[in-house]
Amino acid sequence: MMDKISIKRLEVFANHGVLKEERELGQKFYVSCNLYLDIRKAGKTDSLEDTVDYGKVCFRMTRFLTEHVYKLIETAAEELANELLYTIPQITSLDLEIEKPWAPVGLPLETVSVCISRGWHEAYIALGSNLGDKEAYLKHGIQSMEQSKDFRVKSVSSFLTTRPYGMKEQDNFLNGCMKVETLLMPEELLDFLQGVERSVNRVRQGKWGPRTLDLDILFYDDIIMDADNLKIPHVDLQNRDFVLEPLKQIAPNYYHPVLHETISRLAEKVPGEPTIVK
Ligand code: ADP
Ligand code: MG
Repeated sequence: MMDKISIKRLEVFANHGVLKEERELGQKFYVSCNLYLDIRKAGKTDSLEDTVDYGKVCFRMTRFLTEHVYKLIETAAEELANELLYTIPQITSLDLEIEKPWAPVGLPLETVSVCISRGWHEAYIALGSNLGDKEAYLKHGIQSMEQSKDFRVKSVSSFLTTRPYGMKEQDNFLNGCMKVETLLMPEELLDFLQGVERSVNRVRQGKWGPRTLDLDILFYDDIIMDADNLKIPHVDLQNRDFVLEPLKQIAPNYYHPVLHETISRLAEKVPGEPTIVK
């Protein structure tokens, strides 16, 4: 169980609503949140710098909800959650509830509310390129995440030169791996990465064919998923030394949630010919 700071029913007068009258006249909202963070240090030091100042959070939430106008409290909650997660680095995740006690339903209700949970997720991503300025393409992939507020790049491996896998008659690859924290859900992460790939991969010459940039999701927290277009952990990573070697640099003890082995151990027993060019 993670430590948390809770704020209950902060009252904010704001102008969110589908009806024109709601947006013109405004009404009362209550905002509640659980902010998950490590409180141990502040518990020991008794110093405000070591925790999140809940007073500032209350002012920030009030300002955000009064400076923006949304039709839906769903959107207000989503955007407010982002604002808190973008700007307060200690918060790893949060629950946020927005109540609308005067919701114009025309029936006597006590309150309506939406409640969402959002937070940073840990993901490992493999990068590959075998066309053009390969290093520049890998760096472009990394930069696209560094420049997005939905990512925090935590570590990047070195880049390794490797022989092609699958379709052999093509140029060598440059491969690397990175660890990120992201606010995106797995499908959104795939969409984001495919958008980055598309922005540089004008032509795609078939599966395993040459490409300027390939970005694959290796792990996302410890989830296991098997959708048609997205499988996590990546189904083939245990067979690819060009993924495991760079991954080993940044996460040697990461435990594969399906194969129940560490990355170091998996890297020791990759089947087939090594692809890494010394
Ligand atoms: P590969 O990465 O195997 O060389 P592609 O980059 O062409 O091949 O990806 C083919 C498809 O793999 C994508 O359309 C994507 O939907 C699917 N896919 C499934 N699981 C993943 C994953 N973990 N990461 C990235 N793509 C994935
Ligand atoms: Mg791919």
